[in-house]
Amino acid sequence: MIDHASTALHSNVPQVKGQITLRRVKPRYLGSVRFFKHLIVTFVSVMMILPWGVVAFMAGKEETRRTESRQLEAQLIVTMGELQSFVNEYEALLARIDSDDAENLMLVGQLMDQLEIAESLYEFESAYGHLHPELRVEGPKEYIDSSRTVYLTFDDGPGGYTKSVLDILQRYDVRATFFVVGYVINSPGREDLLRRMVEEGHTIGVHTFSHVYKDVYSSLEAYLEDFAKTSERIEEITGIKPDIFRFPGGSLNSYNERWGNTIISEMLNRGYRYYDWNAGSGDASTEATVDSIYEDVIRQVHGNPYSVVLMHDGGGGRQATVQALPMIIERLQREGYEFDKLTNQVRPTVYTTAGYNRG
Ligand SMILES: [Zn+2]
Repeated sequence: MIDHASTALHSNVPQVKGQITLRRVKPRYLGSVRFFKHLIVTFVSVMMILPWGVVAFMAGKEETRRTESRQLEAQLIVTMGELQSFVNEYEALLARIDSDDAENLMLVGQLMDQLEIAESLYEFESAYGHLHPELRVEGPKEYIDSSRTVYLTFDDGPGGYTKSVLDILQRYDVRATFFVVGYVINSPGREDLLRRMVEEGHTIGVHTFSHVYKDVYSSLEAYLEDFAKTSERIEEITGIKPDIFRFPGGSLNSYNERWGNTIISEMLNRGYRYYDWNAGSGDASTEATVDSIYEDVIRQVHGNPYSVVLMHDGGGGRQATVQALPMIIERLQREGYEFDKLTNQVRPTVYTTAGYNRG
């Protein structure tokens, strides 16, 4: 367990051979200032690295495990506040380590094991660091309270309906989020739409450059390449580097089975946050009507503590979306809901079901 003498840290840990050994070495290391420093450093390192590590370890498991790992990952996104509470808990534990019983030594041993795991995971993680090193942003320090807040999100634009969407949002004084597609920005007039989004206080997130699933998800490198192209275009036009994104097809889709968990852990580790949705409007379906969009959104928002609503301003004819939008806003405003744009301080929603509603 703790008998590796290969690193300085491990060589400081006594062998657990029995009471006699324990009594002999304890005054030198256990209970010393250095010992406590090591424990705190160990603990903080483990808490910071382990969540990504757990996600990475889940990679390659069978399909049924994938949903579990996704839920686990959502739980493991550690905010500074949560980290602090772990530290407090651990300090309480430290305060109890004043007797020389075997149980305490076992706890130390377990922590050393965790440190070893964290160290090996760190090596794993940094193996990808040379790929697009510019893709790194400051992650959230904490998550805000989103109760009764509705985050409208529009995917696949900017397109022919984006201006109408922006006009409606402006009329109702509502801020929203646009997950944009890189290649469509190249059409005439689209750069102006992006600048208008920023001027009017909306958030722009990365969706994808090509929106071709089989290319985007063919490897981690391919994903980062596609992401970097989109991010660069957005920054070049608006001066703002996006720090949130949405996976094409949502984070759970049949194209990213091979690479999905690796991509997720890499992106989270680089500070990015991604948002699936917990209220689908169904507006990408050819059978969608103004009423079906309106009713789907209202019903799901009513059932959520806070909502990330998936709609589209590009990728096809979106007249129904544009017509349903004012109805949705009016109804929910009347009911006391707040509308806001996403930022990385909104706790990510990762509740999507594969194939339910293409993002
Ligand atoms: Zn999409």
